[in-house]
Amino acid sequence: MPPHPETWLKVLPEGLFCEPGGFFIDPPGPVPRAIITHAHADHARPGHGAVLASPETMALMDVRMGEGRSGAQRQVLPYGEPITLDGVRVWLQPAGHVLGSAQVAMEWQGSRAVVSGDYKRVADPTCMGFEPIACDVFVTEATFGLPVFRHPPALGEAARLLDSVRLFPERTHVIGCYALGKCQRLIALLRQAGWDGPIHLHGALIPLCQAYERMGIPLGELRPATVAAKAELAGAIVLAPPSAIADRWARRLADPVVCLASGWMRVRQRAKAKGIELPLVISDHADWDELCATLTEVDAPEIWVTHGREEALIHAAEQQGRRGRALRLVGYGDEDDAGVEAVPGETALGGKVVA
Ligand SMILES: [Zn+2]
Ligand SMILES: [Zn+2]
Repeated sequence: MPPHPETWLKVLPEGLFCEPGGFFIDPPGPVPRAIITHAHADHARPGHGAVLASPETMALMDVRMGEGRSGAQRQVLPYGEPITLDGVRVWLQPAGHVLGSAQVAMEWQGSRAVVSGDYKRVADPTCMGFEPIACDVFVTEATFGLPVFRHPPALGEAARLLDSVRLFPERTHVIGCYALGKCQRLIALLRQAGWDGPIHLHGALIPLCQAYERMGIPLGELRPATVAAKAELAGAIVLAPPSAIADRWARRLADPVVCLASGWMRVRQRAKAKGIELPLVISDHADWDELCATLTEVDAPEIWVTHGREEALIHAAEQQGRRGRALRLVGYGDEDDAGVEAVPGETALGGKVVA
């Protein structure tokens, strides 16, 4: 009988560890050998000994951390190409979260575990779609693991933004969006929704947009948003990191309409407390329906939940006849939430969400 994944894939203080392979997956601190699912800061830390990731993730880590800072030895592994690490067969499969994001599939002595990293199931023009892999244990996130979280179609959210731009042609629309993934997806969505004019970028967003374009993701005409040219930005669409939309930088724009693109914009009180005039519910994480559908599709007898709202998802897994387990891994935040700290008293989310 194949060994149970619990005997070879372990939760150590340093993170999720594949013992026979001798590697960690997305460890929160430097380790001798790491496999990285994607380049968001809570999954990709600098300073490992050996690091393995998809070519796109490696390139994005170089942009974020500085060339070669992710690890002393760096190895890229394209999707679907298996390698063997000390007897463990390992391959990467698209996770649909951001460019380069990968699920890590591992097989040891006939036992198969898949670590999804962060993922979503809806189409995203800036990255390859999630590919389900049948397995014995599926390790999933649960960032939006409550039935109240249902993301509307993202293209409709982009169209709402363009409606507002047409309604207020003299105002500057400034949209807070996370620098890696959300920003480029929002640009691609605006192009799909029919906006072919320039899109202006806060300086912090420019290097990652350039990296996406180098890797073959066209984003159309992008211009730096210099607040000095205030008049020029009247009627413009300006993208900025979430932390910049509330500060003086944004207030100096022409009568700004402050927007934020995040799955958390489903929670109206969050948008209100942050002074967001136009909340856009756009998320790179699976919503409740996507999470539940994924459990059915990969059809693993066991579901391990890394972080997020694990209780409801574990309950749903158990109702499907699967064993659920909360790993409670530390160190993972939610990139969507960077610069948008939780509203005090909001942690009892269930009671306060406007569904
Ligand atoms: Zn992520
Ligand atoms: Zn994450």
